[in-house]
Amino acid sequence: MRNFLRRGAVGAVSVATTLALLLAQPAPANASSLDDVFAKLLVKQVTGAHAKQHLDALQGIADANGGNRAAGTPGYRASRDYVAGKLRRAGYKVTLDPINFVQGWTENSPPTLNQTAPGSKVYVPGEDFFTFTPSPAGDVTAQVQGVDLTLPPAPAPASTSGCESADFANFVAGRIALIQRGTCAFATKVRNAGFAGAAGIIVFNEGQPGRTDAYQIDIGEWRAGIPMVFADFAVGNELAAIPGATVRLKVDATLTLGTDHNVIAETRLGNPKNVVMVGAHLDSVPAGPGINDNGSGTAAILETALQMRHYPVRNKVRFAFWAAEEIGLLGSDQYVEGLSAAQRDRIRLYLNFDMVASPNYAYKLYDGDDSDAVGSPAGPPGSAQIERQLAAFFDRRGLGHVGTDFDGRSDYGPFIAVGIPAGGIFTGAEGLKTPAEQALFGGTAGVAYDVCYHQACDTLANPNMTAFDVNADAIADSVARFAFNTTAIP
Ligand SMILES: [Zn+2]
Repeated sequence: MRNFLRRGAVGAVSVATTLALLLAQPAPANASSLDDVFAKLLVKQVTGAHAKQHLDALQGIADANGGNRAAGTPGYRASRDYVAGKLRRAGYKVTLDPINFVQGWTENSPPTLNQTAPGSKVYVPGEDFFTFTPSPAGDVTAQVQGVDLTLPPAPAPASTSGCESADFANFVAGRIALIQRGTCAFATKVRNAGFAGAAGIIVFNEGQPGRTDAYQIDIGEWRAGIPMVFADFAVGNELAAIPGATVRLKVDATLTLGTDHNVIAETRLGNPKNVVMVGAHLDSVPAGPGINDNGSGTAAILETALQMRHYPVRNKVRFAFWAAEEIGLLGSDQYVEGLSAAQRDRIRLYLNFDMVASPNYAYKLYDGDDSDAVGSPAGPPGSAQIERQLAAFFDRRGLGHVGTDFDGRSDYGPFIAVGIPAGGIFTGAEGLKTPAEQALFGGTAGVAYDVCYHQACDTLANPNMTAFDVNADAIADSVARFAFNTTAIP
């Protein structure tokens, strides 16, 4: 077997022959031998030249569709059809998983926020409070309930009001949640309030100097399905101090949702109770064709899937091409949310590849063990082992690598939020390369990893093909190893 591999012919015939030889043999002495054999085979089969054909195709799709492949556009739908078609022809079980995004939002008349009991007071729309874009319409009168408020406010921003579902442990469904700005995204707070059964949401500014006024802001979140407004600190502080305060909250708006599809492709073989998920977002920003972001991750995992189509995998491997990542991780978030607890439990790990060919690249591995964390904690248990396995690939090639924080900016976010271990590779976006990274990877310190990040110039001319080739191999290596062996993951 080893000799056969060393001879190096790796076309379809050699794969079939390898499989026949492997399957004819008695069970291997240990599971690791099989994952090693297939990892080496897959790394040979996944070539940069083949993977680049998918980059060419995605550029062609953008060129034919107004220059981009963004959510809700024909360019996205053509990208979806390209990927799904290739995977179907390779024999994968492919599903198009519908997800929603905001297509349009118009406010028809000014919102209402009135105290109705115990006293009465009219707050001024456009001054004391603003409707959150894109709030659903609604007209509700209910008691207000404060959620983990810090009043008076701390000297420096620190409120975690509404950031954790535990903040809503005593929340009475049907009330209006009164939430303080701070720490996590507005979207997180309103989502949690929605899950807790709130009938409406008032988020108020935290209260420090410079953080007192209300203003207009698009939070990209609508799924709580209830009216929601952003109020100034004075409104929140006042309502929080009145026991039993009841308000009328009304938003008059028209929200139009669009639908895109995640492409999900699964191996027919493998244990369905032990699923290895591999994902890359398929959409670009509207500004450009998105060839590094994220044609690179798309092409690399697509080619990996195509080349391993005949492998007798032990675990089910599920490839995901996410929709609408660029407008709030909507594809991956809605996918994870739609899974039952049992379905989540079967996903052993999630590998994410978003921007793997940045022109001024660094090989950044998601920081599963928290050894190089900037701000975010380590990933769920198992994430450290994923980081170690990816690191081992670069170590074997004599290539450097650094850690990168799980900062929530890509599709691993919804997975780690429900405790699924995650990892992956990232070569950098708008951040600047450090002198230490220049020493490790070449390129230019003080310059963005990708000067074309989210711009029209993220074309075929943008990616670094050395990084693309190396990372396609690293992805093949990692996917093959986990496809046969997840014993490292607790
Ligand atoms: Zn991206």
